Amino acid sequence: MDEFSIIDVFFKSVSSNRSGLVKTGIGDDAAITMLPNGYELLVSTDTLVEGVHFLPDWPVKAIAYRALATNVSDIAAMAGRPCWCSLALTLPELDKIWLEEFSAGFCDALKTFNMDLIGGDITRGPLTITITIHGIVPVDKAIKRSGAKVDDAIFVTGALGAGAYGVSQLGRLDYQSKVFDKLFFPAPKHHYADLLQTYATSAIDISDGLSADLSHILKASKVGAILYQDKLPVAEAVMDKVPDSEHTDLALNSGDEYELCFRVRGEKKVNFIAEVENKKLCCYEVGKVTQDIQLLLMNTNHQTKPIVNNSFTHF
Ligand code: ADP
Ligand code: MG
Repeated sequence: MDEFSIIDVFFKSVSSNRSGLVKTGIGDDAAITMLPNGYELLVSTDTLVEGVHFLPDWPVKAIAYRALATNVSDIAAMAGRPCWCSLALTLPELDKIWLEEFSAGFCDALKTFNMDLIGGDITRGPLTITITIHGIVPVDKAIKRSGAKVDDAIFVTGALGAGAYGVSQLGRLDYQSKVFDKLFFPAPKHHYADLLQTYATSAIDISDGLSADLSHILKASKVGAILYQDKLPVAEAVMDKVPDSEHTDLALNSGDEYELCFRVRGEKKVNFIAEVENKKLCCYEVGKVTQDIQLLLMNTNHQTKPIVNNSFTHF
């Protein structure tokens, strides 16, 4: 089996036109896609390296699913709709069973997010997966990191902690355990796009942890923030597994969440919350934006202390 038959068997077979925007997909020198009138293109690339972003013994389907889901999260954070992607694979060898599982996991994710695979590349070397994702958003409606304003309310789309808890259980529990669901099969919040376009001033997805990712927003927007300790939502699945005294740290630092953290202007909050309820979506208000350029945690006695940021960096 050479790379051409791999493409045909494992990747061309999963190509489709779910987005309705692909004119020419896998098989030519380049893909051709269309952009609907009045829309802009969002583009993002992520590389996953074996041993750094995933471990060799992880379920292959999960490696593939997660690879696409985390890219979808970047489009979701810009309030866009994910449409299609390309997939560059560097493989140490042609392992048919591995490729079969990878392609099945990738196809599951494509279906979940209603996306197309439009092309890619295959090379030989240490196992590396690079995905470039394209999404669309109405002109000028994308939400950036830089729009946070003083007194904006800060929201997150879901309870936090299951990502880090999953990581802490790697090597301890069987991979079939539900504990790994958040880590292996992230559920990016792309269905919040309309809401974000209407109400958010800035947004980011939580991949490194709420405090680390919120810090990026604060830096880009040149503002500070206060988070309310008693409002930080902790995932039910981990509440009784982790001592109460660690819940705050978990909510602040758990990465691999792929929830969104965004801000809404104070005067729009009432309408925003009504629409969240109307759409039966989940949102927690966890803090507010401040002029003072620091990130603080406020306890129930209204005392504040700085949040120390100790998230992962590559270098
Ligand atoms: P070229 O030499 O012109 O780059 P390739 O042989 O690399 O062509 O690719 C042939 C076709 O298969 C192209 O359309 C390319 O986008 C697609 N392709 C290659 N690798 C992948 C992959 N891993 N997943 C999806 N499509 C792929
Ligand atoms: Mg090529």
